[in-house]
Amino acid sequence: MHHITLIPGDGIGPEVANAARKVIDATGVKVSWETVNAGEAVWKSTGSLVPDEVFQSLEQNRVALKGPITTPVGKGFRSINVMFRTKYDLYINMRPVMSIPGLETPFNGIDLVIFRENTEDLYSGIENIKEPGRAEATKVITEYASERIAESAFRYAAEHGRKKVTVVHKANIMKLTDGLFLETARKVSEAYPTIEFQDMIVDNMSMQLVTKPQNYDVIVTTNLYGDILSDLCAGLVGGLGVVPGANIGKDMAIFEAVHGSAPDIAGKGIANPTALILSGAMMLDYLGEKQAADMVRKAIQKTMEKRTVMTVDLGGKASTEAFTDAIISNL
Ligand code: ATP
Repeated sequence: MHHITLIPGDGIGPEVANAARKVIDATGVKVSWETVNAGEAVWKSTGSLVPDEVFQSLEQNRVALKGPITTPVGKGFRSINVMFRTKYDLYINMRPVMSIPGLETPFNGIDLVIFRENTEDLYSGIENIKEPGRAEATKVITEYASERIAESAFRYAAEHGRKKVTVVHKANIMKLTDGLFLETARKVSEAYPTIEFQDMIVDNMSMQLVTKPQNYDVIVTTNLYGDILSDLCAGLVGGLGVVPGANIGKDMAIFEAVHGSAPDIAGKGIANPTALILSGAMMLDYLGEKQAADMVRKAIQKTMEKRTVMTVDLGGKASTEAFTDAIISNL
């Protein structure tokens, strides 16, 4: 039995979290779900953005499936998502971006994985107003954090038969910060002689990705570029509704989609649950339930190949529930 924390979150969160839970339960893997919630909805009803029970549950179970969380502006935390990542040192943000056979998109055959550093860079929260009309933010890059994210990317590449790791940076301008990230990654690469090392400046990378995305395999980058490139890559494979993600540390992992709470479609029952269901498949992999994880991925593929039941963002008319049921029937 796996004990898992389920955080439904805000906006479309509860709709997609419910869908992901149903699909995972339908695989037959034994899961005991502990549902706790954080974010705007909880804050409105309890006055607390992250009730203690959320921390307790995470610390007990060490694995969570999480919907998107909205942080109300000016209510304590900079961002609840960033707080979880830094508090529990979830230093790897892993985002696989894959063309789903059956889904019509401008490109086919994309199969890349983004490793985004998750704890520092311009997300360090060091911002101040020096004088009226002048605001400053501090970009923090350490050798320690750069080394462990680069090591994670190269180790993943080696273990998964990947051929190339592309380090994305802007070291030509930020010579010290991005320079340190690049040089640290280069040193890490020396231990992996069979894997091609490539470095790419982030602006060029953006252009390459929207013209020849199939040329990329594993990408490792800093926090902000990783955030931006993830959304860009989502657009290449069918949109934010289909790209999963994981925040992984030494002894805890939180699985969540790349997308946000999508307030424009919240409560309408039309959100695409694929991204969170695929995040659930990554969670099953992490738990050692590889067969069930593959089953989920294949069921999604089969549903998309049939094209009869598709959510609105994918050009169909199906509700979240109908789409989820179709996936379950294809398991
Ligand atoms: P955040 O700042 O919380 O990351 P955001 O403002 O970047 O959020 P999202 O909430 O991710 O944006 O939504 C961006 C657009 O993508 C919206 O139009 C939204 O409706 C759409 N979208 C996001 N996720 C989904 C989904 N699962 N299904 C359908 N549409 C989605």
